[in-house]
Amino acid sequence: MDESQEPIDSAQDTIIELREATRQYKGRAGEVRALDSVSLSVRRGEWLAITGPSGSGKSTLVNLLGCLDRADSGSVWIAGKDVHTLSRQELDQFRAETVGFIFQQFHLIPYLTALENVMLAQYFHSITDREEALASLRRVGLEDRAAHLPSELSGGEQQRVCIARALINQPPVLLADEPTGNLDAANQEIVTGLLRSLNQMGHTILMVTHDPAMAQMADRIVELQHGRIVAERKLTATSPV
Ligand code: ADP
Repeated sequence: MDESQEPIDSAQDTIIELREATRQYKGRAGEVRALDSVSLSVRRGEWLAITGPSGSGKSTLVNLLGCLDRADSGSVWIAGKDVHTLSRQELDQFRAETVGFIFQQFHLIPYLTALENVMLAQYFHSITDREEALASLRRVGLEDRAAHLPSELSGGEQQRVCIARALINQPPVLLADEPTGNLDAANQEIVTGLLRSLNQMGHTILMVTHDPAMAQMADRIVELQHGRIVAERKLTATSPV
C-alpha cells in the first residue's frame, strides 16, 4: 500500500481529509480547475470557515466534503472512509448518516409541515420516527411550530427547521453554506448561537461564509482563490494549523 492509500486513523481525531483533490470541468473556453490539488485536514469537533471570492471553488469544495460530488483525482476521506470506494447506494447512506446540510436557501418542501420536513431526512433509516423528529425540533426551540407550513414560519424559524432536519440522524459533520445569508440580525444571532452550541456538543462544522463576523466564530479560516487554498488562519488553540 503506498502512503497516499493509507486510511486515516479514526482513533486519531481527523474526521475529514482531502489529499490533493482536484475537480475540473470542461467548458467552452477549455478546462476549469474548480479545485486544484487541495489538501485539507479537519479535526473532529473543529469549526472551519471557508471563504473566498465568487468562483474560487467554495461550492465545489463543499460538494466534495458533503459527498455530493467526486474528485477527478486525489482522495477524500471522511470519518475514516475513502468515499471514492463506496458504491452510489453506500454513498447515499453514508452521507445521510455522516453529514447534515444547512443551506442558505432553506430547501424546505412547501406543502409539508415543519415536522414532516424534518421526518423526511430520516428516509435512509427506513423508519420515520415522529418522536425523534419532534425531539430534533425541540433542540432548536421549535417544538410548538411542528404543525406549521414553511410559509407560516419566519426566515429564522425556517432556518432552524433546516438545522433540526440536519440533526435528525445525529451526523458528526454539519455542512453549512451561508447559513445566515438570508436572515436579519436578530435571527442571525439565534442561528449563530445554535451552531455554537452544536459545535460545543461535538459536531464538526464546515461553513462557507462571506461574512467576516461569521468567519470569526470558527476555529480556523481557510481562504480559497482560483481553486487553491491561499491562506489559513487559526483563531483558537484547538485547530491543527
Ligand atoms: P464558488 O462557490 O467559490 O463561487 P464554484 O465552486 O461554484 O465557486 O466554482 C469554481 C469554478 O468552477 C468557477 O470558475 C466556476 O465557473 C466553475 N464551475 C463550477 N461548476 C461548474 C460546472 N458544473 N461546469 C463548469 N464549470 C463549473
